[in-house]
Amino acid sequence: MELQHITDNVYYLSSAINIGVIRGDDDQVVLIDSGIGDRSARHILRVLQIEGWRPVAVFNTHGHGDHVGGNAYLVEQAGVHVYAPLYDSVVIRQPLWGMLFMFAGGEPIHELAAPRFSPRPSPVDVIVTPGEYSVAGTIIEAITMPGHTGTHTCYRAGRVLFLGDLLSSEAELESAKISYAYSVTMRLESLARLRTIEADYYLLAHGDLRRDIGSLLELNIARIHETLDFIKAYLARGRAEAADVVAAVADHFGLNVNRVRDYSLLNLTVYAHLSHLHNHGEIDFELEGNRLWWKT
Ligand SMILES: [Zn+2]
Repeated sequence: MELQHITDNVYYLSSAINIGVIRGDDDQVVLIDSGIGDRSARHILRVLQIEGWRPVAVFNTHGHGDHVGGNAYLVEQAGVHVYAPLYDSVVIRQPLWGMLFMFAGGEPIHELAAPRFSPRPSPVDVIVTPGEYSVAGTIIEAITMPGHTGTHTCYRAGRVLFLGDLLSSEAELESAKISYAYSVTMRLESLARLRTIEADYYLLAHGDLRRDIGSLLELNIARIHETLDFIKAYLARGRAEAADVVAAVADHFGLNVNRVRDYSLLNLTVYAHLSHLHNHGEIDFELEGNRLWWKT
């Protein structure tokens, strides 16, 4: 984890998940996300300590464990205040609600209890809504960009936009093929809106710092449309259950899913595509033989 200067008072800690650092008054800093667990949080505090900086707040982009997993440690060791958007705050306070996503709402199998899905619970002091927050002499603008989660939020500090998981990098799209989404409908709307949001620097949570995200943004949008078009074409050949659609989508993209966590994420994301198509009148379903069939 290395401290990188972006511009003005804005920095980031480069890592598997990048942490935003915005310097305010009296060596106080505000963080964007907190990493995957106590270990990440310890690294963050160590690096800040070398600079003589003191974290006073963390703004979470969303409630996934790799973004909020360090919250609890930062609260305990440094007394930071946690700012998080509404739906995500529920998961941050009670990680069980996030786990339920992974197993169709039922009590999850223990194999799904990975740190990424079940971080330590953390308090949330402020529920973030769109607009500006003034903390320790910094100005943080919250821009709600739902889709990845129900209230996923990007933050702008000066000329830097912290994207969270709104955009997948080329490398992520190459390996996972499909970006995780709670709502494909919201994600498409948020990506379209991102075209209109100006910044001089963009930081991907899992990726690098960019001056220009134009082609990556279009790649993310195109991948969603490719997936939607594939599902429609697949169902046009005959009705299918959701599990068949999951397998067909995986085959189409050449995926070989061999971990139950990856299957859960893919399954949930395919459901988000199915509901988008259904709610836009492009596919329908029928119940027959105690099975839920999807059809065009
Ligand atoms: Zn995420």
